Amino acid sequence: MSDSLNEEDVTLLRRDTPGCENVIHFNNAGTGLALKPVLDAVKDHLDLEARIGGYEAAAAHQETSDAFYANMAALLNADTSEIAFVENATRAWDMAFYGIDFRPGDRVITGRSEYVSNFVALLQMKRKAGIEIDLIDDDEHGQIDLKGLEAAITPKTRLIALTHISTFGGLINPAAEVGRIAEKHNLLYLLDACQSAGQVPLDVREIGCHLLSGTGRKYLRGPRGTGFLYVSDTVLDQLEPPFVDLEATTWTGPESYVLKPDARRFENWERYVAGQIGLGVAAGYALRFGMDGLSRRIIELGAQLRSELSKRDGITVHDKGLHKGGIVTFLKNGEDPAETKARLAGHRINVSVSGATSAQIDLPPRGLDALVRASVHAFNTEAEIDAFVKAVGIG
Ligand SMILES: *Cc1c(COP(=O)(O)O)cnc(C)c1O
Repeated sequence: MSDSLNEEDVTLLRRDTPGCENVIHFNNAGTGLALKPVLDAVKDHLDLEARIGGYEAAAAHQETSDAFYANMAALLNADTSEIAFVENATRAWDMAFYGIDFRPGDRVITGRSEYVSNFVALLQMKRKAGIEIDLIDDDEHGQIDLKGLEAAITPKTRLIALTHISTFGGLINPAAEVGRIAEKHNLLYLLDACQSAGQVPLDVREIGCHLLSGTGRKYLRGPRGTGFLYVSDTVLDQLEPPFVDLEATTWTGPESYVLKPDARRFENWERYVAGQIGLGVAAGYALRFGMDGLSRRIIELGAQLRSELSKRDGITVHDKGLHKGGIVTFLKNGEDPAETKARLAGHRINVSVSGATSAQIDLPPRGLDALVRASVHAFNTEAEIDAFVKAVGIG
């Protein structure tokens, strides 16, 4: 554990996570258990809104809400001009995807871990605009097959859309290797980093993605109803925001408008200001704690949970991938995943269930219908893992 966080760090993390006292929260891939500094910042802003008025509170807290851009940019190694605040990861991804001027016959490359909402958007554009989807198979480790991906590239390929960390398993896809292929073939690359932001260090320059979407509420432990989009300066003018408003543009005359000169052309005006402040605080917290240490601990705890579950008779672990993170999926013999979840809830243990309707191109082809998903964060403990494995084992 020398490279990971020490006991003192974990004590600090838990002190900043009030919910630790009530529950064993292994549902961080659903929502990370709230961070006190985030909660305080959000409440503080809501209180100010109530005291002096919403617009007036926004003006008074302009600096703190602007801190979101600087913190998120630092977290991703991006420029502040490349960051947009969006209400969730899905809309962030949509603003990028639907901003591409697809023509009939254009092809999009994606993998089996693609998030459900992204994949149905691909299907919609297939129906509406006549694009083709090239679904790349897994390699022998269960991650996206890099050779297969490169072989699928044609002159008609417009986009590589990859989910970095699957929502329904431990898999961490080789995002930077995909970035090198994208660069070699001069292809636009959209990375869904919804589960990876806050779980693993992200460096958009090193990964080589042009577009990256993420949410506030998961491993970053920001407020619900917040998300973000990174748009590289180098591709800004290749995309047309699918919606524009008074925030994305300046209305320059009865017949004219100009787009914002930076990624904020993908934003819209009305927003959850307290949420933006909270997400900025969450990103700042991860930065100060250090993503390297947080990530090492999440990965170690995930590996430990996987190994402890595997040792038990009647429990099967189902995570794919050469590299795995804090999301652990399993089945208990003779127990429906929904039953496992309900039974664990009786022990004040939070997990979630991943079903086929979230993973039509992953679970059913592996002969699976649903899995129990337990997702650990750095504030979780070895003792919680012991209690968890024991609770899964009984009944
Ligand atoms: C949760 C999730 C999303 C959607 O995030 P929202 O903020 O709910 O829109 C997208 N992609 C992945 C991989 C996810 O896990």
